Amino acid sequence: MQILLPAPVADALSRLEACGHEAYVVGGCVRDSVLGKQPHEYDLCTSARPQEVHACFEGERIVDTGLKHGTVTLISGDMPLEITTFRNDGTYTDGRHPDSVRFSDSIEEDLKRRDFTVNAMAYSPRRGLVDPYDGVQACRDRRLMAVGNPTARFTEDALRILRALRFSATLGFDIEPATAQAMNTLAHNMDKLSRERVARELNLLLMGEHAPQALRQHPHILFAALPQLAPMHHTPQRTRMHRWDLWEHTLQTIRHTPRELALRWAALLHDSGKPSTATYDPDGTSHFRGHPAVSARIAADCMASLKQSKQLSDTVITLVRHHDDRVGPDNLQKWLSRLGLELLRQLLQLQHADLAAHAPYMAPQADRSLALIRAAEERVASGACLSIGDLQIDGRALMALGIPQGPELGHTLQWLLDAVLSGRVQNEADALLALAKERARQ
Ligand code: ATP
Ligand code: MG
Repeated sequence: MQILLPAPVADALSRLEACGHEAYVVGGCVRDSVLGKQPHEYDLCTSARPQEVHACFEGERIVDTGLKHGTVTLISGDMPLEITTFRNDGTYTDGRHPDSVRFSDSIEEDLKRRDFTVNAMAYSPRRGLVDPYDGVQACRDRRLMAVGNPTARFTEDALRILRALRFSATLGFDIEPATAQAMNTLAHNMDKLSRERVARELNLLLMGEHAPQALRQHPHILFAALPQLAPMHHTPQRTRMHRWDLWEHTLQTIRHTPRELALRWAALLHDSGKPSTATYDPDGTSHFRGHPAVSARIAADCMASLKQSKQLSDTVITLVRHHDDRVGPDNLQKWLSRLGLELLRQLLQLQHADLAAHAPYMAPQADRSLALIRAAEERVASGACLSIGDLQIDGRALMALGIPQGPELGHTLQWLLDAVLSGRVQNEADALLALAKERARQ
């Protein structure tokens, strides 16, 4: 097998070989190349020890980025390349990290410590493909399976459990039964992991093209990482508006959202408050009154427990809180003023996805959400009034009417903005002045 490598990568490999070392590209970039996908990064591994790598690239910019793990980064042109010395990770006693890292002279030993067979391949133009675990065949079969004994590998590092789900979500691969069984048995070990590592994998998982399918097949892995969501599984939705139970509805909502991180999280969390707000009529019909506020609290809790960025958390919580609020042509300008165009677009995307995951008769309503995005964009493009600064009247004009400077002036401007946003008055100086006069008289 031949893999075409970008020139800086091929150059770095030849340079290491010219210095008398073995060198390969390894891991995700080999897997993606075998799958015919463009790799998003190239990781190199070599028999050279870090100081030998330095010596080999003398005169180039090379920095120690993870010396403890044998990693240096070569910064040549606009493509930083991580170069890691072959390793043998030895024993793990904490379920997270190897007790010590030993450098090795053998690529086979380095591949043995890697998580899944599709990630345990190395390639060099000079030496060809090294694939001791049949990773190519697993790529063809779209099968994810642990290198070696899955129970042992997940006991060593519980993050691999979540990584399995993440790769299933991004690659669309099925997880081989013994690997899946070990994941489920050991999922509780994920408690020991740092929440930042968990968050990174969950973010990648949700962005996966096949995220709904992976979460359908292995929901308990997600629930082990976020126990707040476990009650969503098998919650019925007995109303004519819904065709699916709560978990399937959630997965369908994710399926209909574009692959933007905040939207994917909002889709996952939007109905998380339903299990605790569910009530049932005598005929069995379900209601979930007040669930968006409860979902927003659960969303805040999940985001905080994962130490997600403030910006992502704020966006997700806002989207979840408002997911059931009515946005229509009549109040569009008010929403635009309140959320701004970008957040309103995301809210409407979420509402579209949510409605598309209801009963089929609600499809036309889902399409209306997308039409509202276009309408909102047009309003902004045509210079619609969205803030006090956009009003065709300012504080001075109001002071001329005898309104004193101070809080009252601010209140009047805000009140005039609300009047424009709700369509009670046009944003024209004379009309606004007349209305302000009327208010001052009252
Ligand atoms: P991506 O396309 O998302 O970057 P990747 O396979 O490159 O996927 P990385 O997290 O970048 O994934 O890791 C690079 C490689 O390092 C993996 O392909 C795998 O061989 C190895 N690896 C990473 N994390 C682990 C782990 N926790 N246990 C064992 N091997 C790992
Ligand atoms: Mg990678």
